[in-house]
Amino acid sequence: MVKAIVGANWGDEGKGKITDMMAQEADIVVRFQGGANAGHTIVNNYGKFALHTLPSGVFYSHITSVIGNGVALDIPKLFQEIRSILDRNVPMPKILVSDRAQIVMPYHILFDQYEEERLGGRSFGSTKSGIAPFYSDKYAKIGFQVSELFDEELLKEKVARICELKNVMLEHLYHKPLLDPAELLENLHSYRDMVEPYVCDVSAFLDKALKEGKTVLLEGQLGTLKDPDHGIYPMVTSSSTLAAYGAIGAGIPPYEIKQIVTVCKAYSSAVGAGAFVSELFGEEAEELRRRGGDGGEYGATTGRPRRVGWFDCVASKYGCRLQGTTDVAFTVLDVLGYLDEIPVCVGYDIDGEVTTEFPVTAKLEKAKPVFEKLPGWKCEIRGIRRYEELPENCRKYIEFIEERIGYPITMVSNGPGRQDIIYRESPRKRD
Ligand code: GDP
Repeated sequence: MVKAIVGANWGDEGKGKITDMMAQEADIVVRFQGGANAGHTIVNNYGKFALHTLPSGVFYSHITSVIGNGVALDIPKLFQEIRSILDRNVPMPKILVSDRAQIVMPYHILFDQYEEERLGGRSFGSTKSGIAPFYSDKYAKIGFQVSELFDEELLKEKVARICELKNVMLEHLYHKPLLDPAELLENLHSYRDMVEPYVCDVSAFLDKALKEGKTVLLEGQLGTLKDPDHGIYPMVTSSSTLAAYGAIGAGIPPYEIKQIVTVCKAYSSAVGAGAFVSELFGEEAEELRRRGGDGGEYGATTGRPRRVGWFDCVASKYGCRLQGTTDVAFTVLDVLGYLDEIPVCVGYDIDGEVTTEFPVTAKLEKAKPVFEKLPGWKCEIRGIRRYEELPENCRKYIEFIEERIGYPITMVSNGPGRQDIIYRESPRKRD
């Protein structure tokens, strides 16, 4: 059985926490897209961790953690991350890396920086992890697959060919130092030695695991609105953030995905540029940012302050629909306990017309939020384990949003820890 854990919005919804929690009853956790450009924050018995490449199951000895073929694999970063968790007394996790995953090359990271520099104020707000140049090369068919590290002749020829191509850009567009093929080849040899013990035919491994009745979690990075097809293009990431892509990025049949848990935060946050209709500014924003997440809304990878706003029903309904949501996990609700009233964005006003359908980017830029205010609950809800014990206004907030987005909220997260979760029956089942 395969379950996907994905984001409804711009990322940072708390997928790491939900994955870590659901991994208690799973066997395998697979990362299927993205790279080290975003992070998951996980709080557990070993402490607080920011993971960028490792799947969120690495803290359990019963879990096999898999880097799927869809991931942008930064080999030195992966190994740094493994070392950093071992240094904090986490036992060595079982890790497998797909032989079909492609490698983030040192020049991808450079090109990412150079392009942001060249664009100046018009930049995309890249985290400069090399992700966009990596995926561009993958689809231009000049990327390096992990399997290719083990074919010396091919590697030599390809390194020479790619350096020739990249050096034209480095010399004439960016005016930067050129790549040295011998140095690059040496880098790749060190990558080969690091990754060798973990390389695996992941789709065959997963096929066998599914036949044996194992439970597999697909862990998404970022959220629907950062998807290159369905998100706020061009302010998106470079790989699909949708559960459907989990089948491709892990190498499993799409029909194996039986549950799609879409994580939705009780308010909005976003990193990087792009339209954000329900965004807050000034003091109100500062207060929510400071109180948000677990220790403030600052990027797990970059430390950048996240943009924050009120819950957006239009974006979240769309975000859940594109994921194919079976369950919504509604997270970080505890943070809102300080508010007398909580505005919720229930529609977009575009040129005088109000819509609840999420528009294409050009229209989105013109959208103004239509807010409805709900009464706050003015108390701490951490520690509560049963839905009925939540304050009435808190339940009303959840149920209001559930109705507006049209997907069942079956889990409510009221704190960063594994145990901070309230399970709720699907309203469909209750009917
Ligand atoms: P991800 O990228 O979707 O995994 O999200 P991040 O880990 O980047 O951001 C979520 C942040 O919220 C992290 O700091 C989590 O520890 C924290 N978090 C997750 N769930 C909850 C919750 O229910 N309450 C609070 N207060 N923090 C939470």
